Amino acid sequence: TARQNRNANDSDSLKQVKHVIAVASAKGGVGKSTVAATLASEFASRGFKVGLLDTDLFGPSLPTLFNIHESQIMQRNNMLIPMDYKGMKFMSFGFLLGDSPAIMRGPMVSGYIQQLLTTVEWGELDYLFIDMPPGTGDIQLTISQTIKLDGAVMVTTRSSLSLVDVARGILMFEKVQIPILGVVENMAYFVCDNCDKEHYIFGEKRSDLSERFGVETIAHIPIDSGRAKPFDNYETNDINKGLGDSLIRQVGKMSSS
Ligand code: ADP
Repeated sequence: TARQNRNANDSDSLKQVKHVIAVASAKGGVGKSTVAATLASEFASRGFKVGLLDTDLFGPSLPTLFNIHESQIMQRNNMLIPMDYKGMKFMSFGFLLGDSPAIMRGPMVSGYIQQLLTTVEWGELDYLFIDMPPGTGDIQLTISQTIKLDGAVMVTTRSSLSLVDVARGILMFEKVQIPILGVVENMAYFVCDNCDKEHYIFGEKRSDLSERFGVETIAHIPIDSGRAKPFDNYETNDINKGLGDSLIRQVGKMSSS
């Protein structure tokens, strides 16, 4: 169960972290990092102690999402001290890398990821969100095998290609016994200025993922230019509240099962 899993995160890095939640996608560009930043901001705005770990070595996005251009990561007793940002704690490979591209081979990548997962001094947190790199390969497996996750939130868009990919992602998490807390359908519809109608441009709401895999879609997020803006002045709204409520409910279900 999730509770047993939690007890296994007894490294100095994670032992005071109550819930570790991965935000994953099978494909890039579907809004995974945006959803991770939304969740972190939403939970922090509710008074939870929140951390956000960006594990995308090749395209770290946390610095851009929160408009952080200068960050000095300190080290203490061989532990990395996360950045304190408006009551949240952030760590990103981007902070260590600056603007230079990561050029690494597989084994190095695994090593860096493991370091990020086990040597960051998070301290006491209610929720640590892990922004996973897109895909279902080695890095994702390293993450799911190095630490115990409460579960994963899968982000997808409506297009069928992306849904096929998300099915693959769900199967990967099943294989490593990580529960899917829910699917977030991003860019599901748009609302035009004049009519307030929700236009489902990629097709109406569907339930095939829940039918096929028993996973719940916990939010439909519209395409909205406001969502492409940095998160440094986060304000909640009904959709983000709904997303936050659903995730808390799902985590509760997992802990009690
Ligand atoms: P991923 O992490 O899956 O690669 P990102 O979160 O970086 O995707 O999002 C890809 C791009 O789409 C970014 O420019 C982001 O600002 C934009 N974006 C994400 N979600 C939305 C949305 N709901 N409405 C408008 N733009 C969005």
